[in-house]
Amino acid sequence: MTQTAAVMPAPEAPLEVWELDDPVLQPGDVWLEIVASEVCGTDVHLHHGRLAGVPYPIIPGHVSVGRVRETRGVEVDAVGRPLGRGDLVTFYDVVGTCHRCYYCAVAGQPTLCPHRRVYGITFGAAEGLRGGWAESIHLRADTSVFRLPDGLEVDDVIGGGCGLFTGFGAVERARPRPGSTVVVQGSGPVGLSAAAFARLAGAGELFVLGDPEPRLELARRLGADRTFSVSGSDPAERAAAVRDATGGRGADVVIEASGNPAAVPEGFSLLRPGGTYVIAGHYTDAGPVEINPHLDINRKHADVRGRWGTELGHVARSLALLARHRLPFADVIGGRYGLEAAGEALADVEALRVTKAIIAPG
Ligand SMILES: [Zn+2]
Ligand SMILES: [Zn+2]
Repeated sequence: MTQTAAVMPAPEAPLEVWELDDPVLQPGDVWLEIVASEVCGTDVHLHHGRLAGVPYPIIPGHVSVGRVRETRGVEVDAVGRPLGRGDLVTFYDVVGTCHRCYYCAVAGQPTLCPHRRVYGITFGAAEGLRGGWAESIHLRADTSVFRLPDGLEVDDVIGGGCGLFTGFGAVERARPRPGSTVVVQGSGPVGLSAAAFARLAGAGELFVLGDPEPRLELARRLGADRTFSVSGSDPAERAAAVRDATGGRGADVVIEASGNPAAVPEGFSLLRPGGTYVIAGHYTDAGPVEINPHLDINRKHADVRGRWGTELGHVARSLALLARHRLPFADVIGGRYGLEAAGEALADVEALRVTKAIIAPG
């Protein structure tokens, strides 16, 4: 038997639909029927060849939700809940973290482990069903699978997609204190998630700067107090609003989730002295930008942090919050596409015609 998959043959090449052999399960493996996989900005970057070390042709699709079709001896999920055939699950898309290298074992920073591999990104189609844009995906024994918490639907999770976990990780890196004024730059999936989790983390006044308006509307529904269209407002106007809300000091925390280098100088300008600035939106190299080390960092006593990759705990804990608070991420979904329309989905995401596109093979 075979499984149908959407394949990205090479950078800039049109997507193709392939048939791949059913997997041969090893002990500990899980075989999922895919219910929905997301199309995110990373997939657009993959299509343009902007990530290094990608073994094209690939089956894209990292964060996905599926139904357990078969396991080889797996009876509980990553947090100990019973797991069986037919259960709806998602999974941490990273495998291979070694727990022995310098970054894992000494520095305690496993997202920097050089042995990490990511479904849908660093597995070639030659290795089988290792991406979510397919009828099914073959998960290795070292994959952390999470049964969807009771009350959560497929769309609640996949509407947030990988941005859910990245945004959660960015907020955790920023560590806003209860009552902190927070500015989120960017209103894509990562920015929306950062806004939602900053709200739950106790943000006081919460600003989101982004585009287009439907995304800003979602940001307000997820907890933003004030939103500004970046194209429709002046930087001076945004700066004045943040100053007015903070006695002229600036925001305690700024989280960059836009991927636009031009956001960074503005982010520094909105940050109060001694504040924390987390840069989470530059997953690929969008180029340099000018900052003033004296004014922006040194004299400002700024705490500037990067956020690379997500940790297992971000997945577990963001799902728990999602279930507890029923955040309306399902509403972020703007379009559903079959496997044969994966190229169209990519084009719609790239053109910002939809905030979150879903590949639904069924
Ligand atoms: Zn390691
Ligand atoms: Zn992604």
